[in-house]
Amino acid sequence: MYTIQGKGVSKGVANGPIYFYRRGGGEVVKTAVSDTAAEKQRFEDARATAMEQLAGLYEKAVAEVGEEGAALFEAHQMMLEDLDYIDGINDMIEGESVNAEYAVSQVAEQFAAMLAAMDDAYMQARAADVKDISNRVIGILQGVVAGGIDSDVPVILASDDLAPSETVQLDKSKILGFVTSGGSGNSHTAILARTMGIPAIIGVGEALSEGLEGKTAIIDGETGEVAIDPDDATSERLLKKQAKERALKELLDQLKGQENVTIDGRKVMVYCNIGSPDDVDPVLANDGGGIGLFRSEFLYLQNDDYPSEEQQFQAYKTVAERMGGKRVIIRTLDIGADKQADYFQLEKEENPAMGLRAIRICLTRPEVFKTQLRALYRASAYGKIAIMFPMITSVWEVQEIKRICQAVKAELREEEIPFNENVELGIMIETPAAVMMSDRLAQEVDFFSVGTNDLTQYTLAVDRQGNNLDKFFDSHHPAVLRMLKMAADNAHKAGIWIGICGELGADVTLTETFLAIGIDELSVSPSAVLPLRSAIRSTDTTVNSQKILDELLGC
Ligand code: PEP
Ligand code: MG
Repeated sequence: MYTIQGKGVSKGVANGPIYFYRRGGGEVVKTAVSDTAAEKQRFEDARATAMEQLAGLYEKAVAEVGEEGAALFEAHQMMLEDLDYIDGINDMIEGESVNAEYAVSQVAEQFAAMLAAMDDAYMQARAADVKDISNRVIGILQGVVAGGIDSDVPVILASDDLAPSETVQLDKSKILGFVTSGGSGNSHTAILARTMGIPAIIGVGEALSEGLEGKTAIIDGETGEVAIDPDDATSERLLKKQAKERALKELLDQLKGQENVTIDGRKVMVYCNIGSPDDVDPVLANDGGGIGLFRSEFLYLQNDDYPSEEQQFQAYKTVAERMGGKRVIIRTLDIGADKQADYFQLEKEENPAMGLRAIRICLTRPEVFKTQLRALYRASAYGKIAIMFPMITSVWEVQEIKRICQAVKAELREEEIPFNENVELGIMIETPAAVMMSDRLAQEVDFFSVGTNDLTQYTLAVDRQGNNLDKFFDSHHPAVLRMLKMAADNAHKAGIWIGICGELGADVTLTETFLAIGIDELSVSPSAVLPLRSAIRSTDTTVNSQKILDELLGC
């Protein structure tokens, strides 16, 4: 037995075999083959499997988005039947005695270069498609697994790091815990692990080698300990901790049905952060009072193409209905920075966190924005939906957003499609500019929700994705807390409410501070609801509030 150490970012003890994530698009290595006939057959088999996959995707897309939206998959099938393409690959395997993966990658490069050099813009755009179909075939040849896990038993998933788009596509029923060699505690992958209530450890470094595949491990998502082939004493210690955590959870379960109210009678709204309609189950199981942040971009990350209005409508409607009239705040897409979907074809940026992301994409691609808003307003007829906009810095952005909302509402009225005329509109306060303008912004909207993850990043000038920056990413920094106070005061002056939906909201060491500042709502991962309720119920805001404001904030 031996122990490797990382940083715990999602609490809990998990016990099981280590399994390395199988990623697509790995490097293609050129190898010599002696049996070229067998190699050509390998290619033919992979091509046939790719054709089957594309036919399946086409059927699924027709059902979900109609024939027009599904046409891409049909075009991909036609490309895979192109005789020049097929002959080019077979000739290279035969003539150069090379492996199929290499031949496919080389021929794909040649075809893509040829298409990109054409004058016709339509043909130029097909270069990406040739690469796409070729990557699919190469992935099949390399034995890449859709969803990244091919195991009959649940596993502790190990990886260098996981992108949010990879994490959302995982089969969660197969995952006991996460361990990554890199990563940051503030990344969306860590956030997703907390939302799913799965123990997670990041930053283990090179000690997490593929030689650990299949070994039994126990991980502690609080301390960051990864015990490999644990001996009896270690197993006993960690499994005891697991049992204790379960007992504590049972104790907290007794708070279900109770109010989020302080000793002196102040009520706080405790809502949940979710990333998909499936996450409503843990929200209900943990007695969440509403949804304070539905990260709608995860719907986009799960898709190979823009989710249609209908697809989005169904997702939002499901959440609204299942929450049975409780408030459901859906944030419009916050794509960009670490959350990348290829089909958006965003240009590579030097500083993506400060680039074309979130509301900036929506305001530059109004057709994408309008599709989402139509779906949101349509779903508003089925529950208490509120809409929230991310990454706001200026008053003009909010005024422009409101104009687009009015246009969408007028369209729906015209089409006699039912929707709620009074959907609440809110903004995320996650840039220092939004804090400084919060007096003016508060006059434009119905609520504020502070995104402390980004607000900390932009206030302290610390990249939240940075592997070695967690020490500097201090959400308790007085600069961040003073920003919260300023935004809260301005919200209340304008008569609107303010919440926190960043990860800091679940930090019970700050619950008393948040109450002193005047925060009205806290939106946290479902598993954090009951610990937070317990912290609120044991706080008396008449005792320390003034002292906290005097000392910590100097105001
Ligand atoms: C935040 O920035 O705090 C937030 C809630 O949004 P996200 O983490 O999705 O950027
Ligand atoms: Mg944010």
